[in-house]
Amino acid sequence: MTMLEIRNLSAYYGNICALRGISFQVNAGETVALIGNNGAGKTTTVRTISGLMKPREGEIRFMGERIDHLRPDQIVRLGISHSPEGRKVFPAMTVRENLVMGAYIRKDAKEVKRTLDYVLHLFPRLEERFSQSAETLSGGEQQMLAIGRALMSEPKLLILDEPSLGLAPLIIKQIFELIRVIQQQGITILIIEQNARQALKVAHRGIVLETGRIAFEENAKEMLHNDRVRQAYLGEK
Ligand code: ATP
Repeated sequence: MTMLEIRNLSAYYGNICALRGISFQVNAGETVALIGNNGAGKTTTVRTISGLMKPREGEIRFMGERIDHLRPDQIVRLGISHSPEGRKVFPAMTVRENLVMGAYIRKDAKEVKRTLDYVLHLFPRLEERFSQSAETLSGGEQQMLAIGRALMSEPKLLILDEPSLGLAPLIIKQIFELIRVIQQQGITILIIEQNARQALKVAHRGIVLETGRIAFEENAKEMLHNDRVRQAYLGEK
């Protein structure tokens, strides 16, 4: 089943064209890695999906419904949650407050508590730091908090923008192990990564963006062996 469908999407910053009519789909249960060099348009793509930016042309459908005219909070309500680049947690708020904030669209306190328990089970480190302010967390812990907060709305589609950015290799490994666990819960994931190798290892499918266009898309495992991808995105000769 198609969960997310992007059709002929264009987006601009003033006169600067960031997306030049891209089309792709994400199926339910799938993990899709969006890869590409700096400035290719990855962040713009996901900001447009989550309603933080309006496209100039094209359509975005989520479970069959057009969402490109909706506000970000309406899009969260439909089941799309976005963990933004740069782990934008609320620094002065505690870990608990940040997580509860992620459930702002939900009314049932019992259900929210159940999700909170699930997130703390997934990230025991956050439980240990529960009453600390987010600014006192390490980079990796802040990334866990950003992902945990995104899970608090019980999304059907989780968007992860550069979850490994600026983290040490061992922490990156832990983050990707957690992404696997989230994936196994049946949550559909769209992940953006500079660290293309790691992303393709967890993904089912890879989509390569080059200057606002889709260069190609392929099964992720095949992409790891594709010479062009290896040279351009995996840093191999
Ligand atoms: P990175 O990996 O560096 O984050 P990206 O693939 O996510 O790159 P985008 O951030 O989507 O790329 O940027 C796409 C294009 O839009 C780039 O050419 C960028 O310079 C431009 N752009 C992004 N944000 C703005 C902005 N606020 N104002 C003007 N141009 C912008």
